[in-house]
Amino acid sequence: MTRRAFLWTAAAIRSTAQGLLRVPIHRVMDVRAHCTPEQLRQFWSSIWPETVRDFSQGGIELQTSDGRGEVRRSAGDNPMFVGLHRGVINLVLTDHIPLYWDNGRALAGVTTLWDGYPVSMIAIPYAHGNQIPFLSVNTCVHELLHALLQDIFISRPKLYQSDGREFRSDWYATSLWLFHNGAAIRESAQACLDRLRSGRR
Ligand SMILES: [Zn+2]
Repeated sequence: MTRRAFLWTAAAIRSTAQGLLRVPIHRVMDVRAHCTPEQLRQFWSSIWPETVRDFSQGGIELQTSDGRGEVRRSAGDNPMFVGLHRGVINLVLTDHIPLYWDNGRALAGVTTLWDGYPVSMIAIPYAHGNQIPFLSVNTCVHELLHALLQDIFISRPKLYQSDGREFRSDWYATSLWLFHNGAAIRESAQACLDRLRSGRR
């Protein structure tokens, strides 16, 4: 058995022992997004598989469903979403984050509670995989953690982005990526799912 296979097996045994948590993710492709074939290929062949792997290493299985939807951008660029599902985390895939949240920073993602729907919005052209531990991690992992760690219930993105929660999300993402440790995330994610299902904010 190679060292890598051993680590995978060890992680799998640990996850089973600690109980696997299933997290429903509804992926919504924005029909208005303009992404190049290369950007889409990079996302689906590399970034998203890494997201699934990182969470699974921490005992969290992403159960995905797919649908088409739309990010409608009004005159004030205050976005409206079409195609979201209740009680799950909506992963909206688009080409850029609306100015309403982005403020010209060319963000790769943003996560918020929109009209009671948890939404992680990913700008595919700016998304990336794991690069530097604690500093630059997989965009989808980082954004989904803002939902699972319940930042979405506390404040709007502009507020939580400034109070240390960016680093916290990167820290937990690194612990999934390198240390295969998802115990604290599973606990918070379970509470998050309970809140979403009960409709409590
Ligand atoms: Zn963030």
